Amino acid sequence: TTFIGASFGGIAEMYAQIQKAVGATERVFELLEETPEAINATPKISSIEKIKGIVSFRNVAFSYPSRKEVQVLKDVNFSAEFGQKIAIVGPSGAGKSTISSLLLRFYDITSGEILVDGKNIYDYDLENLRGNMSIVPQDVILFGGTIRENIAYGKPNATDEEILLAAKQANAFNFVDGFPEKFETLVGERGVKLSGGQRQRIAIARALLKNPSILILDEATSSLDSESEKLVQEALEVLMEGRTSIIIAHRLSTIRNADKILVLDNGEISEEGTHQELINLENGIYKNLSNLQFSNS
Ligand code: ADP
Ligand code: MG
Repeated sequence: TTFIGASFGGIAEMYAQIQKAVGATERVFELLEETPEAINATPKISSIEKIKGIVSFRNVAFSYPSRKEVQVLKDVNFSAEFGQKIAIVGPSGAGKSTISSLLLRFYDITSGEILVDGKNIYDYDLENLRGNMSIVPQDVILFGGTIRENIAYGKPNATDEEILLAAKQANAFNFVDGFPEKFETLVGERGVKLSGGQRQRIAIARALLKNPSILILDEATSSLDSESEKLVQEALEVLMEGRTSIIIAHRLSTIRNADKILVLDNGEISEEGTHQELINLENGIYKNLSNLQFSNS
């Protein structure tokens, strides 16, 4: 692609678009590869109906367009009922983040089907589909603007009270209130430098306002110090209430209570069950991971 020669303005603009579509995201570079088909498909499903948040992957296979020879996902099958917490674990590079990118339609799948509320995701209007999803990634990038603007991206017509409430529920109010300019504080390149945990709490406040049916947490707490992790984890618990959550986790301690844990290995879901069920599997991958992590921590 002509990415290297592109002006910075072009990239910034593209980035603003993704922010608008999904909320906080780290997927700037992925969008550059986004296929036009994904954007231009004619939606068959009315945008008026609220998405409930039932998700299923059926025999999903996928290769990145730039590396067609590598099949990242071979045959992925799982489903999440409304309101469930589904965790995905597996080694680094297994394709966990790829699953979230496919659900958000950053890429087109090679074969199989992804269904939301029983309907093919490619039949939805892209804006409607993404408007019903939020992602909180490991590394949240805020856009240059005020804290208020960054939170309100989830709901442009939000009132001051709504923004305040979201910030409080997201455990963000205390640090925001500590800045002389409060919600008008500028962040991003020309503003104050926020810690990773603070940026995540802004992203959580944004997601609370947006009130998505489907929430994706992609290693949302894996790079935080323990104090920050506690505040973020608490805020995430509030955020997960009443919606379907897909939790990609590095630390198994954060997903013990998931309704279902999926182990992604070699392009497939190789184990599926609750924490209790999976630690009882002889020679199971989850059991081994679990033994390793809990004996080291
Ligand atoms: P995980 O989140 O489980 O660590 P990823 O889904 O990020 O794994 O990556 C799965 C595989 O796909 C890895 O081999 C990774 O190198 C590759 N990959 C990820 N993103 C891209 C991309 N944009 N283009 C090409 N290959 C990619
Ligand atoms: Mg990942």
